[in-house]
Amino acid sequence: MAAPLTRLVRKSLAVTLAGLMAVPVSMPLPVAAQSRGPMIIRDQEIENLLRDYANPILGVAGVRKSGFQIVLVQDRGFNAFVADGRRMFINTGALMDAKTPNEIIGVIAHETGHIAGGHLQRLREQMATAQILAMAGMLLGAGAAIGTARSPQVGNSGVGAMGIGLGAQDMAMRSLLSYQRGEEQAADRSALKYLDATQQSPKGLLETFQRFNQEAMFKTTGVDPYLVSHPFPQERISNLETTAKKSPYWDKKDPPALQARHDLMRAKLFGFTARADEVGRRYPLSDNSAPARYARAIAAYRNKQLGPALAGIDSLTREQPNNPYFWELKGQVLLEFGRANEAVTALRRSVSLAPNSGMIKGMLGQALVATGTPANVDAAIGELSNAAMREPESSDIWRHLATAYSRKGQEGQAHLAAAQAYFFEGDYSAAATQANRAKQLLPPNSPGWLKAEDILNYRPPRSAQRNN
Ligand SMILES: [Zn+2]
Repeated sequence: MAAPLTRLVRKSLAVTLAGLMAVPVSMPLPVAAQSRGPMIIRDQEIENLLRDYANPILGVAGVRKSGFQIVLVQDRGFNAFVADGRRMFINTGALMDAKTPNEIIGVIAHETGHIAGGHLQRLREQMATAQILAMAGMLLGAGAAIGTARSPQVGNSGVGAMGIGLGAQDMAMRSLLSYQRGEEQAADRSALKYLDATQQSPKGLLETFQRFNQEAMFKTTGVDPYLVSHPFPQERISNLETTAKKSPYWDKKDPPALQARHDLMRAKLFGFTARADEVGRRYPLSDNSAPARYARAIAAYRNKQLGPALAGIDSLTREQPNNPYFWELKGQVLLEFGRANEAVTALRRSVSLAPNSGMIKGMLGQALVATGTPANVDAAIGELSNAAMREPESSDIWRHLATAYSRKGQEGQAHLAAAQAYFFEGDYSAAATQANRAKQLLPPNSPGWLKAEDILNYRPPRSAQRNN
């Protein structure tokens, strides 16, 4: 897997989700969260697009935009959920399934309905109740099992004891689901209101939910996390349909520019995450559209075919010279193939077109370091420091900054940057070692020295320690 789509931010999410995972029923978590931990991906192009989808909805819903984050979960299954009122999680699978922006905007409107309706607070309380019920059930089960073990004359009570435990869990689950149905309908109503207020069609929302409802009927194995968290009784679908069809914007299409960006986003996701044969099937050579060339160029890059990858990207930059993400991809490809000087040129172009992107600045800084040219070190430190300010939790950026400082001979700053890299990876003991060295080298009470002190004084929460 190529690097930039898999920049991990495991730590902060693992901490947030730990509380939710204690609940006995399958809550709206990405499937991955239940086994190996969710894989969060970062990508400026996709994040900016989703932000453009969400902003008008957040505006009419009265949800504060600053500090609100849309987080991408790398999972092919369809899912979207809100965890804490400030973050909305969307699976890459949902984006890959959605043919129009309107479908995703509809889902975002529904999730925003949960946030604006204060459902999260109630959800938390409800989950606490469910958890208590389930725990009571398990204790009861365990107690009964011990009791029966002591009386040999009761032959098969073990089964009965198990039954008690499951019964209580079932009760907890039912109470949670009955609460959910009410909240789901409320979120649907809010979604329709927001779509109306932003003059957008409710068609995408309805069609997405109908598709789910239908798939659920044919599904015989496995439980879809979106279906568990979003029950779709027929009544809910019909209510939604009746109101949605009255919308004056029912037939309104997404603006063509937005659709074009959406198509590029999907192509990028298929290019980076789908198997080569699927990319070939979805984007055959006969398709000369920009998204098809984008997907094929990315797939070629993943297959280490530099020539076809660059040829594809160059055709795109010729056509859309002001698209920062084509230049970003070009820089990424060149950097990975060891052509750092050319990567710098492409990434400088990208940064000039997307000056607020910490991620792209970070890659430019990395490319500047990779040139090995002493004259580039100051520029690298400048780009990487700026990138770290914009993306303070990116351990990659801190690591490249450490290298740049080391090349410059500023060992104190290099150890401090390395300390931050380890810190944001959740390796607190390695972070402390680096912070100690930084403290010995930096002037006492200077900003860097104080930062090192902060890292040394940090006491990680238990859940974070366990996850590392
Ligand atoms: Zn919902």
